[in-house]
Amino acid sequence: MDANDELKAVAGQIVKCTGCKLNTSRKLAVPGEGAADAEVMFIGEGPGFYENEQGRPFVGQAGRFLDELLQKAGCKRAQVFITNVVKCRPPGNRDPELDELQACAAYLDRQIEIINPLVIVTLGRFSMARYFPTARISSIHGKPAWVDGRFIVPMYHPAAALHQASLKSAVVEDFSRLAGFILEARKKRAAQQAAARPPEPEPEKPSDQATQLSLF
Ligand code: URA
Repeated sequence: MDANDELKAVAGQIVKCTGCKLNTSRKLAVPGEGAADAEVMFIGEGPGFYENEQGRPFVGQAGRFLDELLQKAGCKRAQVFITNVVKCRPPGNRDPELDELQACAAYLDRQIEIINPLVIVTLGRFSMARYFPTARISSIHGKPAWVDGRFIVPMYHPAAALHQASLKSAVVEDFSRLAGFILEARKKRAAQQAAARPPEPEPEKPSDQATQLSLF
């Protein structure tokens, strides 16, 4: 199975999932979408009203803002992968609860494993908490951390940024540095892969006997 088929298989499990109570209130589960070979993966919080209707991530107001940010960063939606920590809408857009986050975690782990992105951008505090459980987003947003062979870059959630001017300028500024993070991550991963490769064997020297024989 190639990465595309593997992602489809995970999506197939997600749309049938009954692993937490959100399955009883969802209309459509939202596995996520984008390229199986994406260099950048965005992880938001959970589907909202429109996402629940359409089964696609970030298609409401926050999604339109995310599209604008992506365009400014020189990325196309089809080149990246966009998903959430929970794949079904929490009723009334409440925060996801611990049991819901736990029930969904293995799906997200598997998506990350299949895509193996160079950069993960966490949008908001729930996806940030997967990597930095005690950090405050106000102190670490826009600062990449190298974790398990990729950059994790925490950013403000576009929905929060839409409603607060200071967060909006912070998220615009953080997104403007995304292309640079990708370039740096490519170099770091290539260097790590080169360091992990076994050394090339030395070309074999002719033995003394072979040298002597060749004199005749
Ligand atoms: N907010 C999110 O966190 N995810 C979505 O998919 C939409 C809005």
